[in-house]
Amino acid sequence: MAEGGISSFWGPVTSTTECCEKNYAYSSYIAEFYNTLSNIPCILLALIGLINALRQRFEKRFSVLHISNMILAIGSMIFHATLQHVFLPGSVSMVCSKKIDGAKESRWKDLFLLQPQVHMEAFGSHPTDRQQQSDETPMVWEMLLYMYILHSPDWHYRSTMPTFLFLYGAVFAAVHSVVRFGIGFKVHYAILCLLCIPRMYKYYIYTQDVSAKRLAKMYVATLLIGTLCWLFDRIFCKEISSWPINPQGHALWHVFMGFNSYFANTFLMFCRAQQRGWSPKVVHFMGVLPYVKIEKPKAQ
Ligand SMILES: [Zn+2]
Repeated sequence: MAEGGISSFWGPVTSTTECCEKNYAYSSYIAEFYNTLSNIPCILLALIGLINALRQRFEKRFSVLHISNMILAIGSMIFHATLQHVFLPGSVSMVCSKKIDGAKESRWKDLFLLQPQVHMEAFGSHPTDRQQQSDETPMVWEMLLYMYILHSPDWHYRSTMPTFLFLYGAVFAAVHSVVRFGIGFKVHYAILCLLCIPRMYKYYIYTQDVSAKRLAKMYVATLLIGTLCWLFDRIFCKEISSWPINPQGHALWHVFMGFNSYFANTFLMFCRAQQRGWSPKVVHFMGVLPYVKIEKPKAQ
């Protein structure tokens, strides 16, 4: 609902997953101002990653990864801007914040703002029966892509595992369009995340390069700090609301997760380039932002 006299362009809020930010405080077009704008860094970082991957002709998997991060962030933006359930037929919506609150946000289905429905929270509340979370399928697809990138170098039969992952993703999408998993989705998603950790750690300990190791450390640090911001915003919302300035924990979470995805993808690009013998180096864009620079041998 509109607060502070500004009316809402998108109609009444149909989502109950409202973060600790006043709705329509700055514009009648943007429900949650900071939570919407804070997705921009994620989109820009993914764009930088994409340009870097394309320019140096990394394998396509990395372009897909960066694009999927971008789509996630755009989905999150639309969700926070409208706080509406948006239905996209065959939606490819995803959110930057895929680790924890991804499951709860990006209710940006209802392209035509179908009917207002009760919003589902990440931890709690029940969705109405018919509401499908079309963002959940792309979230799973992205995790399958991460698994592909992490594990593919060790596969003995080159086509077996990709085929399996593809079928898994297709079957999941089909079943998910009919069946509502509820908490089951979160458990399933958590298992997929956990399956990636040992391999990520293996890459970390086998990497000699100090700058690449720093990328992995930054990945863990941004994940931890971002999660703290998210929790802080959720747990202490009542207290925060009486403060003169809202620290915007949820918006900070978006920013940290934008960097988190970027560091993860950059680290994976480094590891992959090393496997391919492309002599990767971590260099810094404008002296700040790390990215991977490669030198492919002439023969390739
Ligand atoms: Zn969010």
